[in-house]
Amino acid sequence: MRRQLPDYFNPDHLADSGATIEGIWPKARFDRLLNIPELVPGDIRLKLRFSRRVSGNIVIDGRILAELQLFCQRCLQLFDWRIDDDVHLLVAKDEQEPVQDADYELLPVDDERNVEMLQLIETEIIVRLPDYPVHAQISECDQKMLRQREDTDANGTSGNNPFAILKQLK
Ligand SMILES: [Zn+2]
Repeated sequence: MRRQLPDYFNPDHLADSGATIEGIWPKARFDRLLNIPELVPGDIRLKLRFSRRVSGNIVIDGRILAELQLFCQRCLQLFDWRIDDDVHLLVAKDEQEPVQDADYELLPVDDERNVEMLQLIETEIIVRLPDYPVHAQISECDQKMLRQREDTDANGTSGNNPFAILKQLK
């Protein structure tokens, strides 16, 4: 059984019917991601397969695919950043049940044991964000911008935050 990505889902119901959900989440709906200054979100494709273990805990295995853009912290230009990664989540049978599984990330559920899809997807992107996004090679950076930034640093007029410069350029 295959279904489109719902806004909310109940892992218990999906696990008991052995469901797989799959679809594309449009970038316009990402409130949290749109507020991250170094990130330009893109549409995200997600596939999740639900099953229940003998212990009663639910495992969700899937894949996340996204074409995003990040601002390089060296030259302040956008570069393409692709996510193509496995997703392994686990929902405990009940709140009291301690779950330890190195391969699975614990997925929190609300009081009615539902999960908000938007929150799940945004979290999966945020945990994969690099700490310091830069072009893979310095040669890929905008060389003119690098020189300009060096000059600004030498004059002592720039702060530590590269986005201060970005604002000046706008
Ligand atoms: Zn760069």
